[in-house]
Amino acid sequence: MKKILVCEDEAAIREFVVLNLQKSGFEVAEAATGEEAVSLFEKQGDFDIALLDLMLPGIDGIEVCKRLRSKSDTVGIIMLTARTQESDKISGLSSGADDYMTKPFSPSELVARVNSLCRRMGVSSAKNDGSSDSITHGDYTLNIRRRCLETPEGKSIELTQVEFNIMEYLFSNYGQPIDRSKILAKVWGAEYYGEEKIVDVNIRRLRMKIEQEPSEPKHIITVWGRGYKWIS
Ligand code: CA
Repeated sequence: MKKILVCEDEAAIREFVVLNLQKSGFEVAEAATGEEAVSLFEKQGDFDIALLDLMLPGIDGIEVCKRLRSKSDTVGIIMLTARTQESDKISGLSSGADDYMTKPFSPSELVARVNSLCRRMGVSSAKNDGSSDSITHGDYTLNIRRRCLETPEGKSIELTQVEFNIMEYLFSNYGQPIDRSKILAKVWGAEYYGEEKIVDVNIRRLRMKIEQEPSEPKHIITVWGRGYKWIS
């Protein structure tokens, strides 16, 4: 059974989310504050997904996201935002979230988004048991088993699930431009509700991790009018 951490300070929304997830067969733990969510995560740790409200009374959802992400690269994180917090969505994603949902949302959208993230994560972990353990291009190796990128300097860069899936897609199509819409469909799934901008946000984060000069990328190259390609 997939285990979900729900952090939301408004009791009515929290209850709505918790009940609907439980009805769909998820095991749910709930927190009313960010501090509570972090401590639950530290104690139990085996969550598959965390749903984090952005605006919280103590530490906010972005801080919670950063702290969870520093403890786990594998947990899927969805930020819950209000309609007026458009720019916060982006900062939430840069802090390590995999997806965001705008309130209010319907029970079916909630369950669809959680299922979609679970599937994305499941697909990738299933692949980890496959025959090839790594893909190498030049001095860079994408380590599939450990889900990290090994650099010529001998560094091993840990990637989140989404970052890894993007890298795997680019690596498997070495040097070829991949359309943003294709990356979106491959990594987020054809049923994803969101916008292509989410691809750029994750690319920006990958560049921060991988490139020496993120503003002048030498590896994750923008192909104007198309998308991105990887060059080692
Ligand atoms: Ca709130």
